[in-house]
Amino acid sequence: MLSLTSVRVTYGHAVAVDDVSLELAEGQVLAVLGPSGCGKSTLLRAVAGLERLSAGTVSYDGSDLAGVPTHKRGFALMFQDGQLFGHRSVGDNVAYPLRIRRRSRTEIAQRVEELLELVGLAGFAERVPATLSGGERQRVALARALAVEPRLLLLDEPLSALDKSLRERLALDLREILTRAGTTALLVTHDHEEAFAVADRMALMRAGQLVQDGALVDVWEHPVDAEAAKFLGYPTVLSGDAARVVLRAAGIDSAGQVAMRRSALQVREDGPLTGAVLSSRVTPDAVRLEVDVPGVGVVAAVTSDGVGAPSPGADVHLGVDRDRLAVVPDAGSSPRFP
Ligand code: ADP
Ligand code: MG
Repeated sequence: MLSLTSVRVTYGHAVAVDDVSLELAEGQVLAVLGPSGCGKSTLLRAVAGLERLSAGTVSYDGSDLAGVPTHKRGFALMFQDGQLFGHRSVGDNVAYPLRIRRRSRTEIAQRVEELLELVGLAGFAERVPATLSGGERQRVALARALAVEPRLLLLDEPLSALDKSLRERLALDLREILTRAGTTALLVTHDHEEAFAVADRMALMRAGQLVQDGALVDVWEHPVDAEAAKFLGYPTVLSGDAARVVLRAAGIDSAGQVAMRRSALQVREDGPLTGAVLSSRVTPDAVRLEVDVPGVGVVAAVTSDGVGAPSPGADVHLGVDRDRLAVVPDAGSSPRFP
């Protein structure tokens, strides 16, 4: 397995990766999630051996990789833009890493067919990248990265260049492909949905440091602080009295801040909270409301199935869906990870 211990990477006096330790077991997919500029690509490059460590170690199966050059690590890299050879066919692109390893013609032909099948591009071997969609190009890049069965696949925002609907679909495909091939993978991304769709484990990164690390659902359900919650896709984090009111209404007996998804509050006849509707908007998924709840403030809410859109000014009762909120430790009280 991959193991990072107190890894530090600096550019001049700037520290890009600061004291990062993490482990990744064989066959698992870990997503490192963090905002742009927090050091994700640098971390990935350090693992690949493309960036010198100024402290710490990267090891695989117990052996330190310090003296091992990139091409001898047995890792493969895939980037946001795929970096295909534009003048070569899809088949040649996928075959490339096998050719430079001098595999036989028959083996290459068979493996290329297998890989294109795996990524859902059977029959595409003769096409050139310019004739493919963005999603298809990323699948070719993935097939090429998997060609030599790397013991670790490193993915740098592999889906970020794609439009939203394609990204969602390909994220799920990517997970299935990695699982089916049994690939151990480290993915870095700024997109929490991509991380949730693809990974088994997640690490949150901020300003060069890891702030949280755990199984996907643990991180999702227990963000370490308000900033982490927002980055995980909770648009609202309440604190103080507002949080207390919502927690009490949810029947949750702990103290702290409350991170809420937009659908955490739902219009319900018997709901414990009451507020005045400020606005309502019908969307394909739900009727989205802004409601002014005394003691809480202006919050997002949705209507439940079968309830029509209330007009602005109307009073509504709101229930709290415990599965759509997370309790976040109060600022100052949260022990820093690890
Ligand atoms: P991310 O991938 O999370 O967007 P990066 O790892 O690319 O972040 O960058 C982390 C920090 O290191 C940024 O402040 C960036 O400007 C800096 N950085 C990245 N690469 C270099 C480099 N080759 N030389 C100097 N600074 C760099
Ligand atoms: Mg990057």
